Amino acid sequence: MSTVKFYRQEHQVPLEMHKVRIVQKLFLPTVEERLKKMNEAGNNTFLLQNKDIFIDMLTDSGVNAMSDNQQAAMFQADDSYAGSETCNRLKKAIKDTMGLEHFLPAHQGRACENILAEAFVKPGQVVLTNFHFTTTKAHITRVGGSMIELVAAKGLDPVTDDPFKGDFDIDELKKTIAELGTEKIAFLRIETGTNLIGGQPVSMANMLEVARICKEAGIMTVMDASLLQDNLYFIKVREEAYKNKSILDITHELCAAMDITYFSARKLGFARGGCICSNDNELIRKMMEYVPLFEGFLTYGGMEVRSMEAIAVGLYETMDEEIINQGPIFIEYLAKELHEYGVPVVLPAGGLGVHLNASEFFPNMSHGEYPAGALGAAMYIAGGIRGMERGTISEQREPDGSERYAELELLRLACPRRVFTLSQLKYVADRVKWVWDNREIIGGLKFVEEPAVLRFFFGRLAPIGDWQEKLVKKFREDFGDSL
Ligand SMILES: *Cc1c(COP(=O)(O)O)cnc(C)c1O
Repeated sequence: MSTVKFYRQEHQVPLEMHKVRIVQKLFLPTVEERLKKMNEAGNNTFLLQNKDIFIDMLTDSGVNAMSDNQQAAMFQADDSYAGSETCNRLKKAIKDTMGLEHFLPAHQGRACENILAEAFVKPGQVVLTNFHFTTTKAHITRVGGSMIELVAAKGLDPVTDDPFKGDFDIDELKKTIAELGTEKIAFLRIETGTNLIGGQPVSMANMLEVARICKEAGIMTVMDASLLQDNLYFIKVREEAYKNKSILDITHELCAAMDITYFSARKLGFARGGCICSNDNELIRKMMEYVPLFEGFLTYGGMEVRSMEAIAVGLYETMDEEIINQGPIFIEYLAKELHEYGVPVVLPAGGLGVHLNASEFFPNMSHGEYPAGALGAAMYIAGGIRGMERGTISEQREPDGSERYAELELLRLACPRRVFTLSQLKYVADRVKWVWDNREIIGGLKFVEEPAVLRFFFGRLAPIGDWQEKLVKKFREDFGDSL
């Protein structure tokens, strides 16, 4: 392990293994201004303006910090339409890091999913998965397919000490294959670093076993590697059999076991774009025609050529344990700080960010008063911190208009990779603790404008009662004239 040990163990904290060379100035509006901005944004953190946000923890997508080497490579982009050297460099990077010979470019992760759905999912067919992701499910259902989730029960338990909560339930998998029969199954999709259940990893043993079962049954395996970076780190540090293997060896072994690997380069590779990769040229041929149709020519597939250079360098950097440990160790630190104070967080900490369990903040609040949304509004008012609601607001109403309550009411505080310093995370922890201590002041939200689709992006809500004014008043009592 390459974590640096501190001489005084009580001062052990995560250490940045990089230095900052380009900065962006941040502004923290006063608490009164934050109240005003939150209401102008309809109490929906998606509708806040970046200039009013101090710590933006909405997402890890397309907002990770680039390295000096990535930026340097971007100057060398070769944007010739055919025979581009940039395309060759990205192809080589995929071959070197993942061991995969062929790749198709796409403009981002969901575009890869569109192509996979078009090429392989027929109406009435099913895609097996550990857990769905929003864009994946949307594309599969759009072409008439559906998804069956097979994550083990531990995956939906907010607090356990299990190191791999993204694992498949192997018995359920075997049972489901036997019941459905191979014809009905379009493919099996493994989502590494399972996004919607808290960035939770899947173990190598589980993935290899799933791949083996599928091979035996004649089912194609597709790996969504968008969050592979954190998952690789967790395999290395949490899975005994891999502790002496390099990240590169682990990546090769894993990709070799899959028929297709695809990823969003907004996450994997610290850049922007998407790739579908395979060693099977027949499979690539089946998808190829969709690239010029939906994305662009096969040399760029809708990506900016400069981004492709950044992805290529980013993939090599992903093989460096000292680079990929930065996300997980800072997230673990923040989760631990909060947990020790008694704040309910999803444990063990995964990749992606820290997830606050809003149901435990507000045990008497119903799902219909949107506890995770209320917590998101409170965090912005308390500290200029922007999280993302991952609860009932993110669900869609049933066809009869009734609410579909989310299984978990979470507020996700994403940690874009290499973006925040330790003191900024300490500030976040401090403000979350303050909100936790003042949770009894906080009430629910109600919709004032509710779009029929994607309400979590565009919907506007209002507080129920005057809890937000009370929260501001308490802030002034506790913090004086501080920002
Ligand atoms: C973000 C993400 C996607 C979609 O990628 P985009 O680049 O945002 O389209 C797909 N799968 C997972 C697991 C993701 O986290």
